[in-house]
Amino acid sequence: MSSISKETLQRLPAYLRHLKELQKQGVENVASKAIAKVFNYTSVQVRKDFASISEEAGKPKTGFSVNRLVKDIAEFLGYNNINEAVLVGVGNLGHALLSYSGFKDYGLDIVGAFDINPNIKLVHGHKIYNLSKLESFIKRFNILIGIIAVPKDSAQDICDLMIGAGIKAIWNFSPCNLVIPENIAIINEDMASSLALLSQRLSKILKKEKNQ
Ligand code: NAD
Repeated sequence: MSSISKETLQRLPAYLRHLKELQKQGVENVASKAIAKVFNYTSVQVRKDFASISEEAGKPKTGFSVNRLVKDIAEFLGYNNINEAVLVGVGNLGHALLSYSGFKDYGLDIVGAFDINPNIKLVHGHKIYNLSKLESFIKRFNILIGIIAVPKDSAQDICDLMIGAGIKAIWNFSPCNLVIPENIAIINEDMASSLALLSQRLSKILKKEKNQ
């Protein structure tokens, strides 16, 4: 196994979803070419991705064992160890995050949700706690992941509160450039940047069509 690139890492969840579908259909082996076709990659790319997380080499005639790849990818991504997380901000986005039941499949369990609005009490079976309980909750249950879904102006305060209580990784949905110490992991989720990419690709396609 070699070291893994960010691009490979980001492709793994989609491979895993597809391989699990194949598993459900009773498929035992799959060729890299077939997987490459589904994702519009080259089979060399797929084989390289698999080689970076699995000892499973894939056989010329039968291809890769689906079960083995599912096991290796899930293990690599840490999906077998569920990480508990707290969510702060139960507005539109927070409601959507709490209503998604699939996070557990990706190794994430939102065990506590917090807001300053006392009228938000229960969302999709999750009791919503007052923000004043956040610090003691994180400490008591030794929670390591914090999800920020508050407005931009409150995000840094929430981030500081989380880190002060022991959070080590932040999934930030707010459009705030959070200042964090070096030993804290952060992923900034930004729909605006994905949309910028999409519209740039769209304009490229339109330009190409115009020139044809
Ligand atoms: P919203 O106004 O519907 O909800 C915000 C919630 O945060 C409210 O329930 C409010 O009571 C609560 N809140 C405010 N200050 C708080 C504090 N200090 N502590 C605890 N709770 C607090 O907003 P929304 O549409 O859910 O968006 C939430 C955040 O997510 C915003 O920063 C928004 O810009 C961002 N957002 C990001 C994306 C993305 O792609 N990353 C998409 C949509 C929204």
